[in-house]
Amino acid sequence: MCRRELLVDEVTTDDPSLVGDIAHIVAEKEGGPRGNSPLTLEQRHLFSNLVLLCKEHHKIVDDNKEKYTVELLTGIKNKHEMAVKDALSPPDMAKQRSVELYADLLSHWEDAAEIENWTGWTSYMLGSGQPRLFKDTAEQLEDLRTWLFNRIWPDHFPEVHQAMENFRLVLSDLMRVFNNHSETSGDMLSTQKFYCNADPGTDAERRALKQYEFQVALVQDLTLELTRATNFVCDAIRQSLDPSYRLNEGVFIVESGPYMDLSWKRHRVAYDNDQRQVTPFPYPGLDKFKVIRKDRDYHWGEGTSIDDPEFRVGGVSLP
Ligand SMILES: [Zn+2]
Repeated sequence: MCRRELLVDEVTTDDPSLVGDIAHIVAEKEGGPRGNSPLTLEQRHLFSNLVLLCKEHHKIVDDNKEKYTVELLTGIKNKHEMAVKDALSPPDMAKQRSVELYADLLSHWEDAAEIENWTGWTSYMLGSGQPRLFKDTAEQLEDLRTWLFNRIWPDHFPEVHQAMENFRLVLSDLMRVFNNHSETSGDMLSTQKFYCNADPGTDAERRALKQYEFQVALVQDLTLELTRATNFVCDAIRQSLDPSYRLNEGVFIVESGPYMDLSWKRHRVAYDNDQRQVTPFPYPGLDKFKVIRKDRDYHWGEGTSIDDPEFRVGGVSLP
């Protein structure tokens, strides 16, 4: 009650002395303070009925038994026990556990998304006007989709969880759109040049070619969006979990090409400040993305379909 120390430090020559009293909440005897109770004598001696008080407070609570009821004393005792418990267990324990769980989850994500080889694998998606993926990479990314969907993210870092959910949504749409027109060629999955099946010189062929260009640009735009989503995850990790996360490696960039002069171009893509604030996620879903992709830092295509008056592809706002 007064937080006075009740055990005086031992000195070299003597044992420590207990200067407090072990007091009864319900008195030992029926006639004592708060002694009118159905508790048996045995129960009156249990720890649950005892409380350690300084001598002064022991006298005060027994002299003022109307004020210091069983309920009040039990409450004071419980509160003190909780405070000691809190003081003994560092408040960061649960958070520390979350940090460790996140480290494991992030390491799986890094492997499955081939983070270390990001520019490498995405360059096949952005290169030469025909998006391609190694079958191994495609399989890993498909597994990652499912894994992310099933994942339970520990508490404490909701920003990272949200950013990861944004990544998952982009990845799902990228794989879905890519797989709509992919075919096996060697150890790769390649975007099928389906316009080749149409009769040359016909409207059907021109339409199929447009459709192909639309498909390629959409896969490329989604690949850029996935790169933004990856940078967004890393920012969230740095902000809430680990300020040094991938600081040496820097942001994820992508390469496109080869262009007519055989050059490759590097693109640093990221959400701008306004796009980061969009709730619940910067990525708005596929239908909306087709409309807003023209407002991103880079994009290959515009329009929601080949019949959209805004439809166009290639080189729009590329550096
Ligand atoms: Zn006291």
